[in-house]
Amino acid sequence: MAHVKLHIPGPVEVSPRTFEAFCRPMIGHRGQGFKDLYAGLQPQLQTLLGTRQLVYLSTSSAWGVMEGAIRNLVARKVLNCMCGAFSDKWFDVSKKCGKAAEALQVPWGSPIRAEAIRARLATGEFDALTLIHNETSCGVMSPLAEIAALKQEFPGVTFIVDAVSSMTAVPIAFDTLGIDVLLAGTQKAFALPPGLTVFTCSAAALAKAALAADRGYYFDFVEFEKNARESMTPSTPSISHVYALAAKVSEFFVEGLPERYARHEHTNQQLRDWGARHGFTLFPEPGFESKTLCCFNNGAKPGGRVVDAARLQKLVKDQGFLIDGGYGKIKGTTFRISNMGDETEATMNVLIAALDKAIAAL
Ligand SMILES: *Cc1c(COP(=O)(O)O)cnc(C)c1O
Repeated sequence: MAHVKLHIPGPVEVSPRTFEAFCRPMIGHRGQGFKDLYAGLQPQLQTLLGTRQLVYLSTSSAWGVMEGAIRNLVARKVLNCMCGAFSDKWFDVSKKCGKAAEALQVPWGSPIRAEAIRARLATGEFDALTLIHNETSCGVMSPLAEIAALKQEFPGVTFIVDAVSSMTAVPIAFDTLGIDVLLAGTQKAFALPPGLTVFTCSAAALAKAALAADRGYYFDFVEFEKNARESMTPSTPSISHVYALAAKVSEFFVEGLPERYARHEHTNQQLRDWGARHGFTLFPEPGFESKTLCCFNNGAKPGGRVVDAARLQKLVKDQGFLIDGGYGKIKGTTFRISNMGDETEATMNVLIAALDKAIAAL
């Protein structure tokens, strides 16, 4: 069967070079070969995340560490900031972990703002909050720096941030932000196969986790720290992913991080321009649009062009590209196209030509 190239917002297209690294022969995860691999990767990961803390590798999709963060770091009550499908679900996960949780819900398409968080944290009820930086389901990027600045007012609150679809595409400096947990699954902006999550924790978060009674084992953050000090993971990791990650992160530094951020800005603008040319408006509130995907409004909000999203998706797929027909309750009334990973101006132009053809054939 002919391969359909992924332009959905995750998983995204994986390059042959990354697969080649993925398929290297297996080694023991307690041997020097693995330790060297992990240790060699560490400085680059620390630069990428803007941290002097150790960066951990979890063999799980992002939800493993998202749930783990709740189990390790919520003692009294968590404020779940919600603006789309993934952030909404984090609230359910908190409750399923048996935690006291409160929803800070804004309409899908709106960002989370610091002022709303401040009002809730000021009650003194909370010892943790969860935030999704780039809400992939509706293409909204919340202002992380503005929110992280609250940490100075509420130092006792643990700030847990998901950057699954933004880490590596826009600059995020963990230590400067002063947050407590930063995590990303690697099948989105990293463009690796699904199954690995990269994350880091503040010293305060690790000290707090050490006191959490029911934090479990597989996602015990204290175990991650202890093992990372020896350049290892708590249990057998997907070693193939670590090979692939090492190859991928090296590519980031060959390109240059500023250049990588600029490339995403540019390829995202190409998509926005394509939409504008065809009369589509963007679903997110202006000023808070994602840089790694476009969520186009297709009737969910007044204004702009409306088409049969499923038919558009099919016409694009027939030309060898998969775009997304909208997520959850905005399926069909929005559609999404990703520019994450290795996409360049040239590869986006090929996609855009297919999109143009599809629109003409609607
Ligand atoms: C995809 C995604 C997740 C969930 O990732 P899984 O790989 O399914 O665990 C969480 N948060 C965001 C922002 C995402 O885009």
